[in-house]
Amino acid sequence: MLVLVRAAVLFGAGVWLALAPIGADVRAHCGVLLGVFLLYSALIALLVTCRPGRARSIYLGALAADLAFLYFLLGATGGIDSPFLPAAFLLGALTAFHYGPVLGVLAAWTALGLAVASDAARLADRHWSALPLLFIFAAVAAAYLGWLAQREAEERRLIARLNDELRARARDLEAAYQRCQEVQGHLLDAERLATIGRMSAEMAHQVRNPLSSISLNLELLEDEVCRLPGVSAAETARLFAAIHREVDNLAEVTESYLRFAKLPPFRWESADLNEVIRELVVFAQPQVEQRAVRLSQRLAPCLPPVRLDRRQFKFALMGLLTNALEAMAAGGRLRIRTQANGHGVEVHISDTGVGIPPEHLERIFEPFFTTKPGGTGLGLSLARRIIEAHGGRIYCESIRQVGTTFTVVLPCDGSGGAHG
Ligand code: ADP
Ligand code: MG
Repeated sequence: MLVLVRAAVLFGAGVWLALAPIGADVRAHCGVLLGVFLLYSALIALLVTCRPGRARSIYLGALAADLAFLYFLLGATGGIDSPFLPAAFLLGALTAFHYGPVLGVLAAWTALGLAVASDAARLADRHWSALPLLFIFAAVAAAYLGWLAQREAEERRLIARLNDELRARARDLEAAYQRCQEVQGHLLDAERLATIGRMSAEMAHQVRNPLSSISLNLELLEDEVCRLPGVSAAETARLFAAIHREVDNLAEVTESYLRFAKLPPFRWESADLNEVIRELVVFAQPQVEQRAVRLSQRLAPCLPPVRLDRRQFKFALMGLLTNALEAMAAGGRLRIRTQANGHGVEVHISDTGVGIPPEHLERIFEPFFTTKPGGTGLGLSLARRIIEAHGGRIYCESIRQVGTTFTVVLPCDGSGGAHG
């Protein structure tokens, strides 16, 4: 805008210089002034291009220089009667446009004041009312233009802000849409997984009943086979034991899958934890002996009673015992300790097995996480679910090649921990 005005001023002044009936000395004077004005306008354009951040101070400096030029130009071309007098209005208007009404009026009045000063001798020829009128017109024009420009600038700022807000909203919407699509993808996966889950639970259910009849019939068959003449009793027992083991394994896996799909309803009772542990140890004894593991118990006397579902809680602890035994393939020591703590009771199950590497430690409770070739990866996940349903907690500490300790904490009966 400023460059355009300067170009217009230069053009008009050039035409005037070429055509006006003025003396050679005036023409030379004005020619030099216009040349300097041209050079300095180019300099300002250059400065503003190179330093756009300082445009305001550059333009204010240029305003001072423009006023000085105007003073000399008016002085050389007839003072108040100079054809360049409207340039004072132009300066006021431009300043008002850029810096508001106050600075605009000040600029216009300074320009007019300079015009008067450049031609003080001729003031006496004028009627006193002519000059104030000039100042008032300049002030009204500059003030109105400045006010308009300010309003327009405010509206522009408002539009820019609204634009930014709209853009931000559009970005938010875009992000929300992306998230929606992701969630939709997860939902489809979840639906697929749920269907697979239902299918496997149904399959486990269908397999469980035939398995128990296979187990039963196997025992009958073993008796029959043993009675046949010429059959080696030892060999038969070995073969049947192997089949029994596999059937038991299958039964265990189907049991885990069924529990994972849906925990059976809890049947709460108040129980002595030591008694539950003793029952568990009797149950686990054959496995312990099979693996040449030494089992020791240290059960704290007089534990406060706990509220538990005996079957499910034993299932959870059995998972921990099985893991401990499996971690001690070459034998070792299995210790079970109970103790009372401030608000409940604790069971510690420690083994001297292979231990758990730190990178696995944070994943062992995830469903299906297993490092065993035939493992289901459900033992610990189920144990945690069952223990948490009792209002309890389970922790694990392990050192590789030294051993692992699982700690189960249960609230005392009556402390309101268990839900269900
Ligand atoms: P699974 O026994 O079928 O592998 P679990 O959920 O019972 O599934 O155990 C998950 C994994 O945690 C095991 O595969 C094993 O790597 C690790 N783990 C659990 N208990 C022990 C333990 N006492 N000693 C060493 N590793 C263990
Ligand atoms: Mg296990």
